[in-house]
Amino acid sequence: MKCLICKNTHMKEGTTLLPIERGNAILLITDIPAQVCTNCGEPYLDEDTARDVQALANETLAGEVSYAEVRGDRTVLVAPFA
Ligand SMILES: [Zn+2]
Repeated sequence: MKCLICKNTHMKEGTTLLPIERGNAILLITDIPAQVCTNCGEPYLDEDTARDVQALANETLAGEVSYAEVRGDRTVLVAPFA
């Protein structure tokens, strides 16, 4: 596998985090397993992981977005990917 950013071909197992924005709410999903470029640190998720991250985001945000809108300011939620 080759890094799209710096063309380095060395990856190591690691974790990353992804911010997902919906309305006023920002969900930060942490501890996502990823292949991380050893040169520039760019994370690469496999397809299954990316799909599970989206599912977790939808599940977590479903109950939180309306609350965030009522408050009228930005709300940051954090969900560890397990
Ligand atoms: Zn790289």
